[in-house]
Amino acid sequence: MAAVELRNVRKSFGTVDVIKGVDLTIDKGEFVVFVGASGSGKSTLLRMIAGLETVSDGDILIDGTDVTFAEPSERGIAMVFQSYALYPHMNVYDNIAFNLKLARFGKDEIDKRVKEAARILRLNELLSRSPAQLSGGQRQRVAIGRAIVRNPKVFLFDEPLSNLDAALRVQMRLEIERLHRELGTTMIYVTHDQVEAMTLADRIVALDNGRIQQVGPPLDLYARPNNLFVAGFIGSPR
Ligand code: ADP
Ligand code: MG
Repeated sequence: MAAVELRNVRKSFGTVDVIKGVDLTIDKGEFVVFVGASGSGKSTLLRMIAGLETVSDGDILIDGTDVTFAEPSERGIAMVFQSYALYPHMNVYDNIAFNLKLARFGKDEIDKRVKEAARILRLNELLSRSPAQLSGGQRQRVAIGRAIVRNPKVFLFDEPLSNLDAALRVQMRLEIERLHRELGTTMIYVTHDQVEAMTLADRIVALDNGRIQQVGPPLDLYARPNNLFVAGFIGSPR
């Protein structure tokens, strides 16, 4: 069974068609990266999968269940954004635990999950710090920790590293790679960074103007781009 399936998904804002019929099947455990220029519809597509944006037409299935009209909290997904606002008045532990408390998980279960996330993300020593006492990379790890504790079926990342400086981006990219290896969870990752796409993806989905231009393993797109758009983004110089 597919982890995520998009069937002829469309989105219009008013009279403007932004996603123009996207079909895509993502396998369990796969790391899929959406690439494309700014405005190509990457975030809109991700937000529809998350349930943060309604679908104008088509269907979205997660683990074989039609979630097209399901609430975000019913979809079994967790999303990590570029601007990862932590609660400044809460320490790291409480920031990671917050959504579980809202969902009325028991104290012991919360504690177990927060400590497991802290182990995976190497935040053990930082649990009692406040966000102001953390570096940018540590803050981003806390934001990822908030997603991990919900045991999602699918992680969605929308340009999670674009606010970080170059050195930190590399470090966090390796961190996300390790997270995927350790958890084995399906991940959909949006970026306009070619290196992130090439190194993280099992498959790259190249979007342009609301349509999929090409889907395939990074080296396929690199060596055999379907068209000039894909070639310009990821293809070999020729
Ligand atoms: P990307 O993430 O690839 O940069 P987006 O999905 O954010 O692209 O946007 C795709 C297109 O949809 C853009 O033209 C954008 O202006 C438009 N768009 C996104 N959200 C809205 C909205 N809430 N209302 C109107 N237009 C929107
Ligand atoms: Mg975007």
